[in-house]
Amino acid sequence: MAMKKNKNLFGVIGNPISHSKSPEIHILFSKQKNIPLIYKRLSAERPNFFEVVNNFILEGGKGMNVTLPFKEMAYDLSANLSNEAKIAKAVNTLTFKNNQIYGDNTDGVGFIYDIEKNYNQLLSDKKILILGLGGATRGILGPIIDKKPSLLRVLNRSEINKVSIYKQYNFPEFLEIDNFKSLNDDKYDLIINATSAGKNSSLVKFPDKHMNKNAFFYDLSYDSKDTEFMLWAKKNGAQKLAQGWGMLVEQAAESFKIWHGERPITNNIREEIQ
Ligand code: NDP
Repeated sequence: MAMKKNKNLFGVIGNPISHSKSPEIHILFSKQKNIPLIYKRLSAERPNFFEVVNNFILEGGKGMNVTLPFKEMAYDLSANLSNEAKIAKAVNTLTFKNNQIYGDNTDGVGFIYDIEKNYNQLLSDKKILILGLGGATRGILGPIIDKKPSLLRVLNRSEINKVSIYKQYNFPEFLEIDNFKSLNDDKYDLIINATSAGKNSSLVKFPDKHMNKNAFFYDLSYDSKDTEFMLWAKKNGAQKLAQGWGMLVEQAAESFKIWHGERPITNNIREEIQ
């Protein structure tokens, strides 16, 4: 017997996934735009990721947000990639239509929208430090590079293949990739935490020598209380801080636009889900 298909079915896949706010956000958008939809949380393990996605498509799924740790696997799955996804080599928005899989990445646009429009922090000519080089950093790097900062240094805990990252982003002269032990001690205007430390119960020692209490501190992670990064920044006298709630809402708004053709108004959504 053929499976009964859901009409307007969307979802988010990740591991862990129970904490995800994406269902609440998309339901708020759908009410605002009067577009009824079902939005599910889907859990997977790496070995069954493709199977879970395939079952969702068979159920009638039209689109899926992808979160940690599956963005690279979603990239591999997508037959058609947007420019943002191609550059990032990571996909956070899958669209299933005409028997094809389309991959997009809205993290970068969401980040830029939040930091520039919601927090008034312009990135051109600024010195920027990013901690962590996982899927999220790959998503935001391209749009940050387009803003032409004077320095963009990315530090990662583990050694990574620097040359492949320089190549991936077309060798901008202001981009420097290093590890947490970097001896360079520039003072930055904007310090971004893009590690998943705290989420995975492993602690990070943030690099004190890069502290500038006048910088703007942006944590991609978000929590109802201060994140470890926020605590570190506050302990060192920082005044200007933000967690990634706004980015979460803005990247979701971009996904919603891809699926439904309309960008919802995002004012007040952050307060409703926090
Ligand atoms: P990934 O798993 O792809 O990458 C994780 C990164 O964190 C790697 O660079 C890893 O370094 C680093 N890391 C993990 N634990 C530690 C530690 N204890 N000390 C130092 N570095 C550590 O995750 P994502 O890039 O997808 O996500 C990163 C964070 O950003 C997550 O918390 C996620 O929730 C958040 N995020 C928020 C979004 C939003 O809308 N606000 C959107 C996307 C992500 P290593 O290579 O050494 O393992």
